[in-house]
Amino acid sequence: MDKLSADQRHKNMAAIHSKDTKPEMIVRKGLWNRGFRYRLNSPRLPGHPDLVLKKYRTCIFVNGCFWHGHNVEVRSEKGGVKSSECCKIPNSNQKFWVAKIKRNQERDIETQKQLAEMGWHCITIWECELKPSKREQTLKSLAFTLNKIWLEEHAIIGEPYPKLEEEEFGLMAAEEQI
Ligand SMILES: [Zn+2]
Repeated sequence: MDKLSADQRHKNMAAIHSKDTKPEMIVRKGLWNRGFRYRLNSPRLPGHPDLVLKKYRTCIFVNGCFWHGHNVEVRSEKGGVKSSECCKIPNSNQKFWVAKIKRNQERDIETQKQLAEMGWHCITIWECELKPSKREQTLKSLAFTLNKIWLEEHAIIGEPYPKLEEEEFGLMAAEEQI
């Protein structure tokens, strides 16, 4: 009996764990299938972004709605809080949860600020945006956003002859050196 229940416990824990990582797997698979390549959990960047797309200068965070307080408004230090559709703050121990979620929200803002200062774009994908009914649309707009970022980074939007501009730039730099 004991052994069985230990096995069962292990299975339950494994199930919980894989459930936790599922949203990230959806994003990974969705991007990979669309031809995007990335690195995972870059330890050298602030906040260890879940996915890093160097070519797009973009970090992607896949956030759990509860832990990161999606759409939750913290009204006061005393714990006044408005839960959201996807982040229901428990009534018991509310002060504890509010403080924890608020800390995570603040950390997320700080991390993204640091990354922006380093020249990275940040995209946050929320767990609730990956529900089966919304998943395809979310992945589609993610791919769209990444392509838009790439075009902007390479200044191709509204520039019919980017190559010419580069040459002009080179000439100007050469003149300045003389
Ligand atoms: Zn959400």
